[in-house]
Amino acid sequence: MVDEGLRARGVSDDRVLAAMSAVPRERFVPVDLAEVAYDDRPLPIAADQTISQPYVVALMLEAAQVGPEDRVLEVGTGSGYAAAVLDELAGEVWTVERHAALAASAVVALRATQHDRVHVRWADGTLGWVEDAPFDVILVTAAAPEVPTELVDQLADGGRLVLPVGRPDGPQELVLVRRTGATTRQERLGPVQFVPLLAGRAGEAAAEPRNGLEPQ
Ligand code: SAH
Repeated sequence: MVDEGLRARGVSDDRVLAAMSAVPRERFVPVDLAEVAYDDRPLPIAADQTISQPYVVALMLEAAQVGPEDRVLEVGTGSGYAAAVLDELAGEVWTVERHAALAASAVVALRATQHDRVHVRWADGTLGWVEDAPFDVILVTAAAPEVPTELVDQLADGGRLVLPVGRPDGPQELVLVRRTGATTRQERLGPVQFVPLLAGRAGEAAAEPRNGLEPQ
């Protein structure tokens, strides 16, 4: 996946490539798709959502320039795959998912792959993660109609926000927002296709009291 898919398509950041080599992607896809886990395409997961295509994950991580000490927030945990890759790259990782079932299964997959340091929360990620802000990097893995101001507000000075912007079924573009002091600068990184960023929570938390999810 790394040599034929990512390097060949121009991903050159060695830390990103090493982190992606270190995470067993098959542990984050449904069992019946394990054989195609390393194909360079998105795959369906539960709740009608998708695990992002490896190339797009690499593109977002390169753009975000994640450093080894960085505090990183991901909005849209999904399978937990990108959170696991972030855990390989960053200092500390927080991830938020609106679907209860996905948040719970991501906790299981992250534990099974020794990425249990990642903080997982079942919540509406458009609001960020206020108590642990600011973050050096925020990645959003679902498309927002515009850049959410709550997330820009939770960026540290020098912080980077990478997110797809656009309508659910219309054109979307990957955008990099850099914050310097009180000013922000936006850069467009090219067309992408993501599931929509939706407000509010969905589903019900598992009945057991200790499911590994952090309280809201
Ligand atoms: N990063 C994921 C890709 C997940 S797809 C992975 O590596 O597998 C995008 C995810 O964003 C979906 O699981 C969707 O439920 C979630 N999502 C959409 N709107 C959200 C919101 N407001 N807050 C948190 N998660 C959201």
